[in-house]
Amino acid sequence: MWRYRRFLPVRPGETPITLGEGGTPLLELTRTAGELGLGQVWLKDESINPTGSFKARGLAMAVTRAVQAGAEAFVIPTAGNAGVALAAYAARASRRAVVFAPTTTPPTILVQIRVFGGEVRLIDGHIGDCGRAARELSAQTGAFDVSTLREPYRIEGKKTLGLELAEQLGWTFPDAIVYPAGGGTGLIGMWLAFHQLCSAGWVSGKPPRLFAVQPAGCAPVVRAMERGAERCEAWADPWTTASGLRVPDPLGGALMLRAIRETGGGAVAVTDEELTAQAELVSRREGVDFSPEGGATIAGAARLRANGSLGPDDRVVLFNTGAGWLYRSEKGEVRREK
Ligand SMILES: *Cc1c(COP(=O)(O)O)cnc(C)c1O
Repeated sequence: MWRYRRFLPVRPGETPITLGEGGTPLLELTRTAGELGLGQVWLKDESINPTGSFKARGLAMAVTRAVQAGAEAFVIPTAGNAGVALAAYAARASRRAVVFAPTTTPPTILVQIRVFGGEVRLIDGHIGDCGRAARELSAQTGAFDVSTLREPYRIEGKKTLGLELAEQLGWTFPDAIVYPAGGGTGLIGMWLAFHQLCSAGWVSGKPPRLFAVQPAGCAPVVRAMERGAERCEAWADPWTTASGLRVPDPLGGALMLRAIRETGGGAVAVTDEELTAQAELVSRREGVDFSPEGGATIAGAARLRANGSLGPDDRVVLFNTGAGWLYRSEKGEVRREK
């Protein structure tokens, strides 16, 4: 992703802390486009990033800046994948990382955090509860807290999602993007990237309509859109198999709502049954290892097509934000119950 360093907060000549993140393929899904009844469909496959998810982009950027600023240790609250990414980039920078994760985090993800030397502390709660624990540890020990949107640089790394896909489409924008929204850095980061590309004059035309997909068991953005609200309200008792989307009270809620409304997009909820079924089906159909969150974008696109938000000629980009194998046990099954 460092080919876009002119758009990123790095100094000339500075060497970033990198594991080769970004530069992921934009795959055309011809059969899925047919199934969904859409003009053209592409998948930005983020599962092949180092550590298996797009969290690598944000944490490469954040760890690079924090180390330059003197950070000696890190702490993060996570629904899973951000913890794996932090552990890996902290290792790369010879720094310690403490990761607060819910007890319900998929076991393979916890294994991966430990593989990179991250210290896992399990919390009986959701990512918001983990956030409180991380802030306490940060206050006590001085470990740098890399929580979503509480530091300014993870979002800068996420911007590269939008820069890459515009380049991969020959410096044009698609009509719509369907994104599995949790904390919202991906959506807000792409929104920022599209603004920057327009003002730099690299792309002309209207930025894509941004659509957020959330699981029915944790859908604060969808509810705020339905109510015409400017901010999200905390979702009580959140639960979903798509653990990356179990963010009941996103700090970036108001920004996500602005990005969605400004671009003429929308938000849609899908059930855990739908997103798991789609992840399994599309993995077999396309040969891509879909995470439950990736499955949510397929299920969401189907719903958006059915309710008329997406039309038969639309050129749509979907996201597989992480790798499916991270969610599976040895038996090859995705955990469905709490
Ligand atoms: C974190 C995560 C999300 C949510 O991403 P945001 O940009 O924070 O909304 C989606 N999918 C996966 C696999 C994740 O790890």
